[in-house]
Amino acid sequence: MKRAVLVVRDGLRADMITPELTPILVRLAGDARVFANHRGVFPSTTRVTSASIATGCLPARHGLEGNVVALDEGDGLIAVSAGTPDFRDRLQRATGRTLMVPTLAQRLEKHGGSIVFSNVSAGAAQFQNPDGYGYVYHRQGSYGPGRWPLSGKDPFDVTHDSAGDAAMTERFVDEILGRRRPALAVLWQCEPDHCQHARPLGSPDHRAAIAGADACAARVATAVEALKAAGDDILLIICSDHGHETVDEVIPLETLLGDAGLKAAAGSTDVVVASNGTSALIYLPDAERHRAGAVVEFLRGQVWVGDIFAGPDLAAVGHRTDTALAIAVTTRNRDTTNPYGVAGMSHAIVDPLSGESNVGCGQHGGLGRHEQQPFMMVHGGGFGRATRVDAPSSPVNIAPTVLRHLGLPHDGMDGAPLSRE
Ligand SMILES: [Zn+2]
Repeated sequence: MKRAVLVVRDGLRADMITPELTPILVRLAGDARVFANHRGVFPSTTRVTSASIATGCLPARHGLEGNVVALDEGDGLIAVSAGTPDFRDRLQRATGRTLMVPTLAQRLEKHGGSIVFSNVSAGAAQFQNPDGYGYVYHRQGSYGPGRWPLSGKDPFDVTHDSAGDAAMTERFVDEILGRRRPALAVLWQCEPDHCQHARPLGSPDHRAAIAGADACAARVATAVEALKAAGDDILLIICSDHGHETVDEVIPLETLLGDAGLKAAAGSTDVVVASNGTSALIYLPDAERHRAGAVVEFLRGQVWVGDIFAGPDLAAVGHRTDTALAIAVTTRNRDTTNPYGVAGMSHAIVDPLSGESNVGCGQHGGLGRHEQQPFMMVHGGGFGRATRVDAPSSPVNIAPTVLRHLGLPHDGMDGAPLSRE
């Protein structure tokens, strides 16, 4: 039986796969095809990447442009977190849609089905399958086909930490891989990302979180080997969604725009800042579109700014150019090291919705070298062993690769299947 298994270790940087930090991943890499030039989407955030993995498309096509986005729910545009359990319904009420292209869950509905176990945010979990074509399990609410709630009879009580990842992995291996056997099984661990937001990169707590995630990968890999020995043809993809940088300063962008006379007040709907960690999306309603030039001019004069993408330039980073999203801005980053010798420093943008940007700890969302450096390795499914690919790859290559393995069409995606030879 042909099956696919996807394991995502949230936020693990490619350069943190070392014999010392992740001995099990290093051993698995020795038996896999390693995509050494794997790069994230923009913003380099989990919810956007989840939608890109699910659809094989960039944000311009799938329609979820940030971890935080601006929605007009009747009283003008406001910044809204895409991570909350109710975001999917709010998006649908405000815009009439969820994602704009089919997910793997939809494509596999009548071809063996899909089951997602996720220990990250509820929003990131739901964007694997926002319209109820398969199963999504999450601590804040689980759904079966038809978006039927499962929580009452099928509780998913995992904690949002390493211990929760470990408990989730045990259940995934026994129940999903061993007994329910869907065409696609997804395991999305919260570590090391969860720890990286609260502790310095390379610190003892962070190294412990990486070790815990490594043990989970070993558990899955061992189970997959046993299933293959029993005759299953399993494609196993192990990856992360983005990397991290160390936050050296937090920039109050909304306040700065107000001080410059470019925004009426905190929370006003004329110029809306959606912080995505080390980047921000700036939305302008139609009536305020004329402000774009002045906002860009202001940003160009700021020492903390990295890149600015406005109007037609948004297409270069995978975004639509015909919506209220007018400008994307990244922060400046440097390759200097933190006190634990980990390279990569970036500024973060104040995020009143998540509060996840802590000076000295990790963050992501922009185009910095280390936040744009997730990892990916592929086992089985005709992929060569102990080989390395230097051609660029992206999260949008995952869905078409899964579908090709399962013998299904992968039309209408931005990504192509990964090269096996
Ligand atoms: Zn994160």
